[in-house]
Amino acid sequence: ILEVRDLRTSFFTGNVEVKAVDGVNFSVPKGKTLGIVGESGSGKSITSLSILRLIQNPGKVVGGEVVFKGKNLLEKSEAQMRKIRGNEISMIFQEPMTSLNPVYTVGQQIGEAFQIHEGLGKKKAIERSIEMLKLVGIPSPEKRVHQYPHELSGGMRQRVMIAMALACNPELLIADEPTTALDVTIQAQILELMKDLQDRLGMSIIMITHDLGVVAETCDYVAVMYCGKVIEYAQVDELFKNPRHPYTVGLLNSLP
Ligand code: ATP
Ligand code: MG
Repeated sequence: ILEVRDLRTSFFTGNVEVKAVDGVNFSVPKGKTLGIVGESGSGKSITSLSILRLIQNPGKVVGGEVVFKGKNLLEKSEAQMRKIRGNEISMIFQEPMTSLNPVYTVGQQIGEAFQIHEGLGKKKAIERSIEMLKLVGIPSPEKRVHQYPHELSGGMRQRVMIAMALACNPELLIADEPTTALDVTIQAQILELMKDLQDRLGMSIIMITHDLGVVAETCDYVAVMYCGKVIEYAQVDELFKNPRHPYTVGLLNSLP
């Protein structure tokens, strides 16, 4: 469903160029999960933001192709991109508090997607939001739907983020370290939830993580990033059996 070819993104201070992403290649087959792993600063988040064309000044996508369902997203207009972001590709951002709006209730935020995309009225949108909260396993959804983000636990906020991302029924979900901030049991629950939703809804997923254990459990394919480049791309079992790059070998050796 997605093919990224030689993607390059830089940040410019005056005319000094810092290459954040410098040669990213991978594909995500329909209905499959791609894991992106790599150490802090290797370019994982910038890659995902580049795919959605959400890089802000002074950053710029300087080259490559992002082919989604046969069309290069880098050639689309901003208006077309806005449609794609709201309908076909959703993203769960690395920092939940920056993407949940503190002054709106959970129901208002999830409901907005239904109001915009399905033209539902407020009351119906809240009903659908409650269904979504149930889907992502939030207890007493009828009560939670009227609460504000700060009234929820971290794990619940993460689930709300997933619910929001899924409200538009995306074909591709990009999840940037969706569980890093959470404790281990909740982490496992959320990963299981995402797997389960994928089975039910048939979407494709890009799962960004620095944890190879998460990749082993949830992904079909994996791209290893190092210094802005994808240095290895393979099926997960292939990578574990037969890592080609010394950096990947080191990563595997560091697994408990
Ligand atoms: P982490 O695991 O810590 O989230 P990451 O792999 O997601 O790391 P990115 O956020 O993609 O890393 O950053 C890649 C590179 O781009 C880093 O070297 C970072 O310093 C640089 N970078 C990111 N945002 C900016 C910015 N706004 N201005 C300048 N450089 C940036
Ligand atoms: Mg990141």
